[in-house]
Amino acid sequence: MTRNQNDKVALVGTPCQIIAAAKMDHFRDILGESPLDLKIGLFCMENFSYFYLNQLLEKHEIELKDVSECRVEKGHMWFYLTDGQVLKILLKEAKTCMRKNCSVCMDYTSELSDLSVGSVGSPEGWSTVIARSQKGLELLKKAEQDEYVQIKPINDSGIQLIEKLSSRKKTENKAEIKKRESVARPVIYRRFITDSQFRDEVVECQFADLKADVVDVGTCVLCGACEYVCPENIVKIEDRKPRIKGECPPECNLCYVACPRTYLPQELVSTDLDQKPLGDYLKIVSAKASLVKGQDGGVATALLNYALTHKMVEGVMVVDKSRAKPWKPQVKLTKNTDDVIKASGTKYAACPVFKALKVKENNKEEL
Ligand SMILES: Cc1cc2nc3c(=O)[nH]c(=O)nc-3n(C[C@H](O)[C@H](O)[C@H](O)COP(=O)(O)OP(=O)(O)OC[C@H]3O[C@@H](n4cnc5c(N)ncnc54)[C@H](O)[C@@H]3O)c2cc1C
Ligand code: SF4
Ligand code: SF4
Ligand code: SF4
Repeated sequence: MTRNQNDKVALVGTPCQIIAAAKMDHFRDILGESPLDLKIGLFCMENFSYFYLNQLLEKHEIELKDVSECRVEKGHMWFYLTDGQVLKILLKEAKTCMRKNCSVCMDYTSELSDLSVGSVGSPEGWSTVIARSQKGLELLKKAEQDEYVQIKPINDSGIQLIEKLSSRKKTENKAEIKKRESVARPVIYRRFITDSQFRDEVVECQFADLKADVVDVGTCVLCGACEYVCPENIVKIEDRKPRIKGECPPECNLCYVACPRTYLPQELVSTDLDQKPLGDYLKIVSAKASLVKGQDGGVATALLNYALTHKMVEGVMVVDKSRAKPWKPQVKLTKNTDDVIKASGTKYAACPVFKALKVKENNKEEL
């Protein structure tokens, strides 16, 4: 494939979206150059179906249009309403709206990102930041020097809490994978193979295989990577699933290669990461943005804005709220720092983020 990307883009996303971006980078000889140059990953225990979340709130006689802030903490999902009331729903009940794919997910802290950002482990109003690559560490240092973020050491108890939650996610979800595999098809992204085995294994895999191996077994994370990489433009995310609208030409396997829930080569995700609850990293700190109000410390937004303003990237992909449907996540590829600030805050629903790159490519838009 001859995709040639000149614009460098930063992506902020959940661990599964970061895995797709890392695969696109790793397999660029097959998929073409990836524009995704900086990966800011979020911590993520679970995500929710927008459709079922709406239904749950209806049951509690609340409409999403009346919600001004949403948080998951202390065993509850909290909805702060515009009239000042607060609705808290037990997480156990909210989890009935959880996406099925999240219960086989083994990554809590975005282990393949340049920088991971989460709320757990740091005091209220601060974010936990894990720098994993030199590029990420450099961005964090420069953003601190130029006073975009303040940094302080993270407490040992904070690190222990993240490790505990991550280990719990890995243990519980490994058990769920085992359970599912005893009655259904394998969860193949947990089948570790080498890079060369991967290339042999997937050579004839097309959308029908992606559907059988990922979508039909309930592991699709709805990231939109398959739609983005399809050279024929025949994959569309519709009705909460990727669907095909045409015939695949022989020898194309791009969607299968890019999907974060097909095989992951050992060269990308080492098998011992399961024994390392936080993954590999260089530095972990608590941080807070100086000028941004975000979900926690506003750090994801401040770092993206630093990268944009200092021309480390030409654009960033953020997830804002849809204008038409309250709290429905909507991806935006922008080079405007006001858009990045507007998109701060967590939207607890899946979002096909890579769609933004497809739109840009199809319109041949410059950023
Ligand atoms: C589905 C989900 C589950 C999470 N679960 C946990 C958890 O269990 N524990 C924990 O510590 N932290 C979790 N987080 C991360 C946490 O909510 C904050 O995003 C993080 O602490 C960064 O805060 P901030 O103030 O620095 O970010 P902000 O400056 O507020 O920026 C947040 C960024 O997140 C992006 N974003 C918002 N919604 C989505 C989405 N649905 N998909 C992709 N990107 C999105 C926005 O583009 C924005 O740039 C979760 C985030 C999401 C999206
Ligand atoms: S699969 Fe679910 S739990 Fe895992 S990173 Fe994606 S949204 Fe979060
Ligand atoms: S043409 Fe078919 S196999 Fe190729 S990326 Fe598109 S859907 Fe997948
Ligand atoms: S099938 Fe498509 S949308 Fe689903 S996880 Fe794979 S690449 Fe993402």
